[in-house]
Amino acid sequence: MRAALYHDRKDIRVEEIDEGTVGDGQVRVDVDSCGICGSDLHEYTAGPIFVPVGDPHPLSQETAPIRMGHEFSGTVSEVGDSVTSVSVGDAVAINPILSCGECRQCREGNYHICDSIGFLGLSGGNGGFAESVVVDEVHAVPLGDDVPLEYGALVEPLAVGLHAVRRSGLQAGDSVAVFGSGPIGLSVIQCARAAGAGTIYVSEPRKARRERAADCGADELIDPTTTDAVEYITSAADGGADVTFEVAGVEASLNDAIQSTRPSGTTTVVSIWEEEVSTHPNNLVLGERTVTGTLAYLGGPRSDEEYGMVIEMLANGRLDPDPFITGRIGLEEIVDNGFEQLLNPESDHVKILVKPNE
Ligand SMILES: [Zn+2]
Ligand SMILES: [Zn+2]
Repeated sequence: MRAALYHDRKDIRVEEIDEGTVGDGQVRVDVDSCGICGSDLHEYTAGPIFVPVGDPHPLSQETAPIRMGHEFSGTVSEVGDSVTSVSVGDAVAINPILSCGECRQCREGNYHICDSIGFLGLSGGNGGFAESVVVDEVHAVPLGDDVPLEYGALVEPLAVGLHAVRRSGLQAGDSVAVFGSGPIGLSVIQCARAAGAGTIYVSEPRKARRERAADCGADELIDPTTTDAVEYITSAADGGADVTFEVAGVEASLNDAIQSTRPSGTTTVVSIWEEEVSTHPNNLVLGERTVTGTLAYLGGPRSDEEYGMVIEMLANGRLDPDPFITGRIGLEEIVDNGFEQLLNPESDHVKILVKPNE
């Protein structure tokens, strides 16, 4: 079968590989859709970051080249012995989190910040830019009958946004400012809207992404190349937004986010960073502001885990993936019409879905 493998920075190749066999406790999933994520782009332009080189990842035991793609959905086509949670024909979203089950965070149920955290499709362990994957049963989360299969590929980025909003302390009626409206920024906007946010301000330099932000429920759109976002939000939101989110991963947006937060408010940093940046600690001290970080999500199906919540919110229409999806491509086009398109500053793309079986 065909699959896209990450070899190194700027070196992703679609190759013929063995489809593997389904062992005890494992399932085969025929991939419907797999989204190209900002983390994939970081690996492509500045990596390897999560992709293991040299020492294998402690949980996947793999090093590059690895099969890429961690935001995907598909249909179960084969189940191994002792599998009980899914059957052949079931639609599933993949929970890509790899965790050890033994460290302190895992023992406390916070496996998304495991000491050995990894992700299928980034840390080894089979990714979704492939015709099919074989994964342990725990990674196949049932979508149910009310969520279209393609939407299953958006469960992962929506769970990132939902987890960030739940960690932020947002309360109904709070003003919110979001810096950056790529896929995760849009996800934060939708989840903040669903959580009862008051006015949502969005600062984003790209026009097409501002328009998508409006489709996701943003109220006030700011182009930071022509408007001083800090001045605007401080004045419009009576001293600053109650809750702000940094989702762009650049120094200016981090500082704008902190300075647009009202005294005693909270900035939640969602971006993964390529390098160190600087900020003035007085921005925190003088207004008693809090800055906190957030990673991933709880990827299980239960109603107290973010995958379970997102699937329910997709089924009842509280979340809508349509504004995210700007393109659908075949596997062979993944570099030229996928990665390179998303990196092109002139392009209006937000989320491109790879369809390996079409
Ligand atoms: Zn992702
Ligand atoms: Zn652990």
